[in-house]
Amino acid sequence: MVFALKTSSIRSAAPAFDEIFRDSAEAAASLDCEAPVLCFSPAKLAARANQFIDGFPGEVGYAVKANPCAKVITVLAQAGVGVFDVASTMEMKAVARICPTAKLHYHNPVKSRSEIATAWHAFGCRRFAADSHEELAKIAQSVGSASGTEIAIRFCLPSQDASAHDFSSKFGADETVAAELIRQAVEFGFAPLLTFHPGSQCTDPKAWIRHIEAAGRIANTAGIALARLNVGGGFPACYTGSAGPDLVTYFDTIADCVSAVFGDHPPALECEPGRSIAAPAFSLLTCVKLVRARSADLFLNDGIYGGLLEATQVSDLLPFYRVLRDGQVVTATDQRAFTVFGPTCDPLDVLPVPLLLPSDVRESDVIEFAGIGAYGMATATSFNGYGSVSQVTVKNAYTGHGNC
Ligand SMILES: *Cc1c(COP(=O)(O)O)cnc(C)c1O
Repeated sequence: MVFALKTSSIRSAAPAFDEIFRDSAEAAASLDCEAPVLCFSPAKLAARANQFIDGFPGEVGYAVKANPCAKVITVLAQAGVGVFDVASTMEMKAVARICPTAKLHYHNPVKSRSEIATAWHAFGCRRFAADSHEELAKIAQSVGSASGTEIAIRFCLPSQDASAHDFSSKFGADETVAAELIRQAVEFGFAPLLTFHPGSQCTDPKAWIRHIEAAGRIANTAGIALARLNVGGGFPACYTGSAGPDLVTYFDTIADCVSAVFGDHPPALECEPGRSIAAPAFSLLTCVKLVRARSADLFLNDGIYGGLLEATQVSDLLPFYRVLRDGQVVTATDQRAFTVFGPTCDPLDVLPVPLLLPSDVRESDVIEFAGIGAYGMATATSFNGYGSVSQVTVKNAYTGHGNC
């Protein structure tokens, strides 16, 4: 009963994120953890955004889909991010409410006519993506050929498995079609640019080289001097099974390749990371509800229908994790592999790989997952009556290991 009161007071009385703790261990010690707790570090988010703003050789946007939380958008806008990649009119609304002057890039390559019209009229959006003749015609018919509209032609290359999620299976014109589309966009009176997405959590900087070289070929074939080139998201965050080199390596690779390909007339560059900016700013505190010692089964109060979905899609994306007890990190030499289930009654609600945990892990211990800020809370459901989460602010983020 005491537990229930404590949790509900956090959720209802205090606005989300109002409680400020030094770090997640301090938060874990003061919270009952009846519901899972998201620990948000605005400082970490701003620092990560600044790594992009200071290092990327062009304009930095943020892909809202990774984490559309109002606090995230607020902190990024304050850090100087003025461009937001949006995929829906709901995302436009989320950005416009906080930052009415932000530039919106509607880079979802498939939009309904009414979504295009709403973006144009209600949100002042002047940037639309297309990867087909059909979509380009739809945009032209919906907004007319009024000047000032930019069309980002999305192209793709055959996948080389350098990323966790391959976007080329769903979006992107091949080089031949992209060259046709760019010419057609000009005929419609639009300002054309090229864009690509090398795949999310793309750990190989050479993927950008392949795409920038292709952009050069497409522009040549179309006979057009590219004014702008959007090099996508895809920059990595840090997970137990996946990490890339330092961000600076990506920025240098991109800058060098653009000058090699485009020489004296390089296009202005843009990027639109989601994961790499948002992931390290959040960790998730989950609580052990039950340990079946004999079979090494462990039940948490959150799982794949909550903040931990992505690990089941790509097991390399299992977050770094640690065990907290009474606000202290439990370091044990004696460890055991546990099968970790979530709180719902669905048998699929289980982590894809066992977690190595102290063998005396017990009820009420906290298991903290790092780097949950991208595609964690954004995809959480309330399936089976779970999914509510408490939210606190921490000064220092737990990010696990690696250079995130
Ligand atoms: C999802 C998405 C992004 C962000 O991708 P990350 O891998 O999270 O950086 C950027 N641009 C577009 C068009 C997207 O759909």
